[in-house]
Amino acid sequence: MSQLTPALFVGHGSPMNALQDNPATRAMHEVGADLEPPKAIVVFSAHWQAPETLVLCNERPRTLYDFYGFPPELYNLKYPADGATEVAGTISKLLSGNTADACGSWGFDHGSWVVLTHLFPDSDIPVTQVSLDFTKHPKQHYEIGRYLAPLRSEGVLFVGSGNIVHNLGRVNPDQEAEPVEWAVEFDSKVKSLIDHKDHKALIDYQEITKQADLCVPTNEHYLPLLCILGMQQENERVRYPHEGFQHGSVSMRSLVVEAAN
Ligand code: ZN
Repeated sequence: MSQLTPALFVGHGSPMNALQDNPATRAMHEVGADLEPPKAIVVFSAHWQAPETLVLCNERPRTLYDFYGFPPELYNLKYPADGATEVAGTISKLLSGNTADACGSWGFDHGSWVVLTHLFPDSDIPVTQVSLDFTKHPKQHYEIGRYLAPLRSEGVLFVGSGNIVHNLGRVNPDQEAEPVEWAVEFDSKVKSLIDHKDHKALIDYQEITKQADLCVPTNEHYLPLLCILGMQQENERVRYPHEGFQHGSVSMRSLVVEAAN
């Protein structure tokens, strides 16, 4: 098999991470700097949900400010990468049995640019996004990862952007707050299941802990993880460049799926 480009899942947390230098964002910088520059980047972001699987096909996607009430400097940030239109076309074909289509009007949502700003600060690699289809079962998101995995042999980097534990109603305003027990328990159980390659249990995430419904009250921040794990090959392992929490319950765990040495 030819060399596969690693696949990433990155916890994005608050949009403020785009402006911050903290352990989570430093880890993003290191991961990006360690990678062979990919030919193109494909992001599965928690913040692009649609009633079907869509692929971003703009040549110059806008930077979207899809949040409210944050400081003005956040609205001045831009991620001016070109759209990865060629790869978008290939994805559209690969997923044609899955109602994938092109969608020209979307841009880079904050789930995408908050992490790309740190991973690839020069914004010189073309980027596309694939939406999460909220009508689909978690297993189908995992399978989309399987379908698209062959593109990894063509220098395409896949990035899932979400958070393994994400409950806006339980967010502590203090970014440095001590993490709560139910969040820590779920996050560490997920890590253990990833390490044991028990993807079936990860797809059935509501059964992972007794308080799983507190950790994943809606699954849009969790599904990008399944898209990325669907790409893992037999001979690959998972490495964790960063683990920890922000705001008491938001898991900032990130992971790299790569060849085991
Ligand atoms: Zn988010």
